[in-house]
Amino acid sequence: MLATPCLLLMLAAPPAASAEVPERLLRATQGQSQAVARLAELTDTVGPRLAGSPGAAAAVAWALRAFEADGLKAWLEPVTVTAWTRGEERAELLVGGPVLRPQRLAVTALGNSPGTAGGGLSAEVIEVRSLEEAAALGAQARGRIVFFNHAMATGGPGYGDTAQLRTRGPATASRVGAAGALVRSLATASLRTPHTGMTSWEGGASPIPAAAVSVEDAELLHRLLARGPVRVQLTLGCGFASPATVESANVLAEVRGRERPEEVVLIGAHLDSWDLGTGAIDDGAGVVMVMEALRQISLQPQAPRRTVRAVLFMNEENGLEGGLGYARRHAAELPRTVAAVEADSGAGRPLGFSVTAGEVGLALVRRLASPLASLEATRVEAGAGGADISPLQEAGVPTLSLQQETSRYFDWHHSAADTFDKVVPAELIASAAAMTIMAWQLAEAPETLPRVTSSPPVKAPPVPAPDRR
Ligand SMILES: [Zn+2]
Repeated sequence: MLATPCLLLMLAAPPAASAEVPERLLRATQGQSQAVARLAELTDTVGPRLAGSPGAAAAVAWALRAFEADGLKAWLEPVTVTAWTRGEERAELLVGGPVLRPQRLAVTALGNSPGTAGGGLSAEVIEVRSLEEAAALGAQARGRIVFFNHAMATGGPGYGDTAQLRTRGPATASRVGAAGALVRSLATASLRTPHTGMTSWEGGASPIPAAAVSVEDAELLHRLLARGPVRVQLTLGCGFASPATVESANVLAEVRGRERPEEVVLIGAHLDSWDLGTGAIDDGAGVVMVMEALRQISLQPQAPRRTVRAVLFMNEENGLEGGLGYARRHAAELPRTVAAVEADSGAGRPLGFSVTAGEVGLALVRRLASPLASLEATRVEAGAGGADISPLQEAGVPTLSLQQETSRYFDWHHSAADTFDKVVPAELIASAAAMTIMAWQLAEAPETLPRVTSSPPVKAPPVPAPDRR
């Protein structure tokens, strides 16, 4: 009896000017969320999605179909990605010095590492704790395996400090003549599981075989090295596929704005994942949040003032070609891209947003975040957006990054343990709701965020996005 007048009232009400839509979205995204079912489908039926792999191609097709099933206008934008493959990987302590018996070490190749030639690399290990120590090794490093052993602090912020050992350590070791590199896994917990991630040969360093070693085996190496010289045999079958590049795509969909369709609010996540697990927390969770946000917005009686565009980026993990390609292709449109929001911090509950839009922008986002009070997700602070939207940030687009509870994120990140069972459904649903509300609010607000100037306009130190490669 009561339902009909309520519905009529809802349909007749001017949708733009009130808090009704955020409230309704909040209820719908929690009551009828498809986020969890979608994530199970992506991770269980497609699985690993390393850029350039058949899994990534299947994910592109899956995402396009899913957007279309939601009744959305969806399309692909081509992206050429570097195709790196893993192959065999093995490491063993060789008898000699303090080692009385051979022992296997749990290792996994780092993205962009070359393989070992012939029968593998056998070399003495030399331990360092920082890039500076590695650079200072000089001739001592020649022909050796440089072992970067620095424990990651528990919790999210430790990643930003430690990640450079993985991204830049092997190149630093190569410059002083090392034959290979081992990097202690960037992990806050371990069941002797190595955590991969990309390494970079920037600055013309000649590529050398580089692998992550499990936390337990990093500790073992450290104890043995205190007893005497240690040799390791490293065999890696990884390298670039032939041809080294593959045609892939970003997957897009949008809801056109009702008043200013030329102004775009971008919501993004990355569709690719590392190959060891099934990319549930990194970044399948972000993918389904973005899909759910656009679906829920499309179900509103009226579109928001501006266009909301979902972008599922390809190859955030091992090349960033999707993020860079989007910025190039849409360069002419970036002055009218009023905000870009990325979800790439796992599947935990939402805390709020980090923002690059100056103090005035922070104040506006705080106001827009007020409907998130019931989710306890109103924390708004200065900080960088995700890696995929960093090229947009450089072009002056205000960026936001969904901040989430990440206390266990780096237990599983980039490892074989990144699987669907780690996801707490209610937490993922709440984060999807936070993305939905913020996307709506940014697209509907009468005013827009201030454009970003060249230097960071706020004094607070930037919060590193947990998965900035
Ligand atoms: Zn990620």
